[in-house]
Amino acid sequence: MTALHPLLNADLHCHSTVSDGTLAPEALAARARANGVELWALTDHDEIGGLQRARDAALREGLAYLTGCEISVSFAGVTVHIVGLGFDAEDAALRDGLARTRGGREARAREMAAGLAQVGIPGAFEGALPYVGNPELISRTHFARFLVERGTCADVSEVFRRYLTEGKPGYVPHRWAALGDAVRWITAARGIAVIAHPARYKFTPTEEYALFSEFKAHGGRGVEVVTGSHSAAEAVKYAAMALEFDMLASRGSDFHSPTESRTDLGTLPDLPGSLTPVWAALADRAQWPA
Ligand code: AMP
Ligand code: MN
Ligand code: MN
Ligand code: MN
Repeated sequence: MTALHPLLNADLHCHSTVSDGTLAPEALAARARANGVELWALTDHDEIGGLQRARDAALREGLAYLTGCEISVSFAGVTVHIVGLGFDAEDAALRDGLARTRGGREARAREMAAGLAQVGIPGAFEGALPYVGNPELISRTHFARFLVERGTCADVSEVFRRYLTEGKPGYVPHRWAALGDAVRWITAARGIAVIAHPARYKFTPTEEYALFSEFKAHGGRGVEVVTGSHSAAEAVKYAAMALEFDMLASRGSDFHSPTESRTDLGTLPDLPGSLTPVWAALADRAQWPA
């Protein structure tokens, strides 16, 4: 087995056209290699349908590869994302759980479109569809791209701010997977569960402590410390949390699109040296190019 050294250029969080990214798995693998990534995982939302293509492309490009996904969870009334890494992608309970998590998305999207129609934006469901690569995975991001296309907003983040977040006309509350279920789907399939981009949730310190404690009690082991959406100060905060909770640290750009994402694949700062990288515990789950 090849060792995975701590300062390896690992990028363990990104999205393809199989969820709400704009690049195919093959294009992501090529971009990762061009940017110097050495260990890569594709982590589409609630979906592992792109993993075979991702694996083949990664090994062709000379990248070490881990299976991945990003599961939508509802915790304390907030949507939390849990990244799974290094699981067995054939695991039946994981596949079934992901399929059920995807299940409500079309009805939700129709409700989102109804909300947008009420504020003078008709046809948003049909408008979002051309952006959808996977009919089971209609996401807010696809609506956002349509609203930019029709000139309603200048960019995707303006759409989220004005239309797609809590209290806004296109926002529809949704019940995702339970935290314990998502963690168990991953760990029972021999993977490691990781709290994605922890600074993005609107939690009080008490709620955040509860998230970390319950996540660990369910068998979760990792936290994203270095991610595209963390400031330097946030990375410092979650590095301390990783140490306090004795958790493995992950690193991932959360790259979605060359035109929309601030952080490109493989361009993140290193993990602080005091932390144990999640890949140290996943060397036997990685696949290696010939
Ligand atoms: P959904 O799973 O349909 O609720 O969509 C969630 C996705 O929307 C996230 O994974 C991001 O890709 C995107 N997203 C959420 N908030 C924002 C934001 N403020 N700006 C841009 N994209 C966002
Ligand atoms: Mn996304
Ligand atoms: Mn996320
Ligand atoms: Mn993501």
